[in-house]
Amino acid sequence: MKALAAYKTQVVDAAQALTRKGYLMATGGNVSVRVAGQSAFAITPSNFDYLKMTPGDICALDFDLNMLEGRLKPSVESAMHGAVYQARADVNAIIHTHQVYASALTLIKAPIPALFDEQARFLGRSVEIIPYAPSGTGFLKNAVAKHVKNRNNAFMMQNHGALVFGHDMERAIHNVEILEKCSLAYLLALCTERKTGKIPLAVREIAFAKLRKDQKKVEQGMMGTGGE
Ligand code: 13P
Ligand code: ZN
Repeated sequence: MKALAAYKTQVVDAAQALTRKGYLMATGGNVSVRVAGQSAFAITPSNFDYLKMTPGDICALDFDLNMLEGRLKPSVESAMHGAVYQARADVNAIIHTHQVYASALTLIKAPIPALFDEQARFLGRSVEIIPYAPSGTGFLKNAVAKHVKNRNNAFMMQNHGALVFGHDMERAIHNVEILEKCSLAYLLALCTERKTGKIPLAVREIAFAKLRKDQKKVEQGMMGTGGE
């Protein structure tokens, strides 16, 4: 079994990579990874500069949000991350960002339909808007827990930001990037006020079926979490 330290390093590396790429800004957003084989996860601390973060700053929590390791206050969205890990056995990494283009779509409550092949393959059938609830509350956690059951890997939280999953951290980061590309392209298309074309339904379903197949493999332990 991998030591907690390795998970903490993974969270810091991901948070810093996402900051350098412009998906995390200031102290907004949070990043976590599931601790394999345990009802636990490692998550970024609350309100802390990602570029100054070290593995010792990361919090390890169980699903009841008891602190297993850590000296800083865990992210205010810890309950939301924990709820996703409990609802989705295929998810091993979670990234919440305030990335700009996806956030813009949340302001006009515009879910993203299946626009691109790679979107359906990796993010799911569509990117839905989760109705507004204040950051860090049980209301938001409950709304998220309800929506993620549809097996999509990316969501937008109204007037807030994005919530993206992966079977490992690398996949979750790639999914953040795909979401932002789709968001920008969709926003530009909406600005033209012309009809936006979608990919054919049959193609969407084939792509989503591949994602589901991957998810089932992860659930059965046949696909690595990318960190062991
Ligand atoms: P934390 O700094 O507590 O993780 O909160 C940031 C955030 O994005 C809340 O939604
Ligand atoms: Zn947030």
